[in-house]
Amino acid sequence: MIVSACFAGIHCRFDQRHNRIDAIQRLVREGKAIPVCPEQMGGLPTPRNPAEIVGGDGEDVLDGRARVVDNHGNDVTDAFLAGAREALAMAKAIGAKKAILKERSPSCGSCAIYDGTFSKTLRSGMGVTAALLWRHGIEVVSEETWEEEKDAQDSTRTVRRDPEEG
Ligand code: SF4
Repeated sequence: MIVSACFAGIHCRFDQRHNRIDAIQRLVREGKAIPVCPEQMGGLPTPRNPAEIVGGDGEDVLDGRARVVDNHGNDVTDAFLAGAREALAMAKAIGAKKAILKERSPSCGSCAIYDGTFSKTLRSGMGVTAALLWRHGIEVVSEETWEEEKDAQDSTRTVRRDPEEG
């Protein structure tokens, strides 16, 4: 399994903070999960400007229909795509079938992301890394949908999400 590195207490967020969740950090400590931060792996610095997807969601970015732009108007699409590919490479390297990723992130969001207007407005859709992992058959859940008890019993189960579920 891979998890968003910020869940493990790593200060990799754009503002150099973390989103530690004790139960997920414990999975890392026990060797059941590998932490990845796609934005750092794609070459972006920390701290960095916050970014949002403009013109769609992560799937649209993968298909070239949308871009990732930071709050100063810089196009950071290439770094987001590179980070997504690195996260996928890590997932494949360890045989991960599941990812627990941070909801609402333009990389890691699995159900909701910000809409590209930098007005704290949400829209449905996946982040770039979540979309790429999902396309490669890796189950993607968020900290809000993750079922801790089930993972404690079975950390290797694979469930493909139906694209129609959004
Ligand atoms: Fe956390 Fe993902 Fe953002 Fe990195 S890219 S800080 S792992 S939400």
